[in-house]
Amino acid sequence: MKKNDPTSRAFRPLFPERPARSPSPAPEAEDTGAAPSPAMRQYLEMKREASDALLFFRMGDFYELFYDDALTAAKVLDIAVTSRQKDQRRVAIPMAGVPHHAAEGYLGRLVRAGYRVAVCEQVEPAGKSRGPVRRRITRVVTPSTYLDPDYLEGAEGAYLMAACEWGAKDRRALGAAFVDLSTGDFSAAEFRAEDGARECVELMAAFRPRELLSPEEAPPPLPLAAEGGEGPLRTVRPGFWFEHEHARDALLRHFGTSSLDAFGVEDCPAATCAAGAAITYLTETQRTRLNHIAGLRRISDSGRLVMDPLTQRNLELFAPLSSPASDGGKTTLAVTLDRTATGMGARLLRRRLAQPLLDPAAIRARLDAVAEWGSSEWAGGAAESLAGCPDLERLASRAALRIAGPREYLKITEAILAAERLEEGIAPAESPVLADLRGRLGGVRAVADRISGTIAEDAPAAVREPGSLIREGVSAELDDLRRLRSSGRSAIRDLEGRERARTGVASLRIRYNQVFGYTIEIGKGHAARVPEDYVRRQTLVNAERYVTEELKAFEQRLTGAEARIGEIESELFAAVVDEVAAAGGDLLRVAAAVAEADVTAAFADTASRRGYVKPEIHDGYDLEVSAGRHPVVEALLPDSFVPNDLSLDGRGFLMILTGPNMGGKSTFLRQAALHQIMAQAGCFVPAAAARLPVCDRVFARVGASDDLARGRSTFLTEMEETAHILHHATPNSLVLLDEVGRGTATYDGLSLAWAIVEYIARRPNLRMKTLFATHYHELVGLAEAEPGVVNFHVAAREHGEEIVFLRRVAAGGARRSYGIQVARLAGIPPAVVERAKEVLDGLDPERLGGFGAEGRSPPPAPRPGRAAPPPAAAPPHPLLERLRGTDPDALTPREALDLLYDLRRGLDP
Ligand code: ATP
Repeated sequence: MKKNDPTSRAFRPLFPERPARSPSPAPEAEDTGAAPSPAMRQYLEMKREASDALLFFRMGDFYELFYDDALTAAKVLDIAVTSRQKDQRRVAIPMAGVPHHAAEGYLGRLVRAGYRVAVCEQVEPAGKSRGPVRRRITRVVTPSTYLDPDYLEGAEGAYLMAACEWGAKDRRALGAAFVDLSTGDFSAAEFRAEDGARECVELMAAFRPRELLSPEEAPPPLPLAAEGGEGPLRTVRPGFWFEHEHARDALLRHFGTSSLDAFGVEDCPAATCAAGAAITYLTETQRTRLNHIAGLRRISDSGRLVMDPLTQRNLELFAPLSSPASDGGKTTLAVTLDRTATGMGARLLRRRLAQPLLDPAAIRARLDAVAEWGSSEWAGGAAESLAGCPDLERLASRAALRIAGPREYLKITEAILAAERLEEGIAPAESPVLADLRGRLGGVRAVADRISGTIAEDAPAAVREPGSLIREGVSAELDDLRRLRSSGRSAIRDLEGRERARTGVASLRIRYNQVFGYTIEIGKGHAARVPEDYVRRQTLVNAERYVTEELKAFEQRLTGAEARIGEIESELFAAVVDEVAAAGGDLLRVAAAVAEADVTAAFADTASRRGYVKPEIHDGYDLEVSAGRHPVVEALLPDSFVPNDLSLDGRGFLMILTGPNMGGKSTFLRQAALHQIMAQAGCFVPAAAARLPVCDRVFARVGASDDLARGRSTFLTEMEETAHILHHATPNSLVLLDEVGRGTATYDGLSLAWAIVEYIARRPNLRMKTLFATHYHELVGLAEAEPGVVNFHVAAREHGEEIVFLRRVAAGGARRSYGIQVARLAGIPPAVVERAKEVLDGLDPERLGGFGAEGRSPPPAPRPGRAAPPPAAAPPHPLLERLRGTDPDALTPREALDLLYDLRRGLDP
């Protein structure tokens, strides 16, 4: 990339990509010295199969890693590296291992550190076949495919994104698919090549994928660059995976259908390519059927409010702009609104905020449901059912993938019963949304009965500890064997007593160990009393261990029973696993309904706790909010937040908001956008009343002075983003421009800001609702010249040297920014503050030139089709402007007097 070449920044990293941490490829046998042992040969084969992953190679009770994998794992996991000696040339192979029962924790750490891990299991008991035990890679875990509950965050999705280009030069398209293996959610979209990258990134902002899959040979032109930091892990796979025929076949095979018509993607080849590759990848990593991914949804732009990633970030919808870890996301909209009781509800709430609706009828239906939930007597009971409902969505997905443990099945039962209680709880609900979801909450009782009728209540967490997995009464043979086992144990104790009596050795013990089985242990001091029929098995320092024929017979019966118990339990459990996996689609249907109820309940709860109102959604243009509040700032400053009105309509759709630093301008801007997003997501809004239109896009552009993520706070970036808004906004968009133009020299910035406002105001096909916060008080003059532009300011009052922020938004422009007073508040040394005042007083507007001086404005640009006005028609003096923007009837006597003093002071040179 050329230095200082602005074009080289065209694809800047909106999502800094996390580079894949690639382990070294499989070492060749020759590299490693002499002929490898059969087990090592098997290892090398497996390693070749999963060459971009670390290989966990099961050996007995451990997963071992070799060669560079061992060194990498040792560093990341802080475990010891040992070595495995080669027999002939004695080349030491680095080796590191983790115990198999603790593997999940280690896998989670490696995945979080950006690695893929292939897990290779022994698939037959040791000693069953000649040569090394047969082994197979059973799964590959990656950031989007690792489903350990401790790794997945309850409220966050775990999406894999696949993206690729499709088509010939004249008809190119970009396809993107998003699939969450942990919930079965699967959707795909297709864009025209020209705008594809940008729109794809907007979708990424909504899904926040953990991993991005793309073709090795031709990665799509997404604005991703290897910068490190947070972002999706990049995975590449061969290009043919993304070819239409291959991808379509993969989807048809997966869904068992003969066409993709039902999913609406048959005529979307690029979306099909991406979706097919995603399924191929998940099949490769999971190596099992993915029954729970039962459908594919086509995402179309027309159905949702679009926000780019920057807008999401500036509005702090999901992640705070600063201090990400320390405050637990308290400053984000998602955390402020999230009063859901279940993980699936929390995820749905975030999805709704990321993709608010566009259909006014659907929005109103959601709002009606929230209103009914908030005002009904049954709501308390229904909320209790929700509180007792485990995360069925993730449990059902794990069950469908056959990786759930016995206790997770019991939780599925719990969730099914909670959903049934919820169904009864909301029986009286009348709103169509609630009535519809109620109809999807039941119908899976048989699954619950099957699980609870088979799996014991105190079942172990993992199937590898059988013995008490299956309930009494399920299998007569199992119950008999268990009785035999417990009587066998008491028989051993009887035998111990008899042998003590026979030998006269009171300290005689019958013990069990894995190698020698049951033995009679007698201290060496009693050697003379050992009967002749005792056969010595083991010598210890102070004791000898013996067996007798009777003891051997007992042991055989007992171990035979244990083994058979294990077998029967595993078979019975496997039958339950099969049945629940087959019911995966039904369980996910119930989970989705529970999630919808949960979000409705959460929105109703937040509304009643915080005093939100139901917005009136209409099909027109005007936006009107009275006494609106910023949901997050209000939650952090509960008693001192000052509500403000906002009205945007055909006569005033572009508000220029001026006022002091720290006055509350940004807060006011953001609150307008948040109201709109919340309303379209189906949530009440913090206001006394709100009449809102439906917006197709919300843009929030914050000038360079604000805290932006790395590398983004440059003027070029600021202008690129503004350009994007000017190109993509429509009259139905809501645009926030916060101090745009601030990142360059004062007059360049002012001129740009001026021209941008004019541009928006004059394009009849633009006229998007715009809030423009600025310290360029000269812009105030635009309201005079441009119909539709209105001035507002956040009020502050000066008391001597002090400034009091009133946080009240009122008509008219402000005259000053009080920057020096705010600097003093911030602790700038008094000498600097004093000097700044002198410099400010001494600044000669004339010498500085042109319209930067107070009271001067740039000449209005010629209007299309109109002659340029003579220079004399320049905007009026700001004091006149201020008077014009004042409504005397709205002033208290005191405010009127203050205004008079202010105006007088403004006349002083
Ligand atoms: P600057 O021009 O320096 O960027 P600003 O005018 O954009 O400042 P904000 O960042 O919106 O000011 O607000 C500053 C602080 O004022 C906020 O952090 C918030 O704590 C408080 N604040 C803003 N609006 C209100 C309000 N309506 N009621 C109470 N406090 C508010």
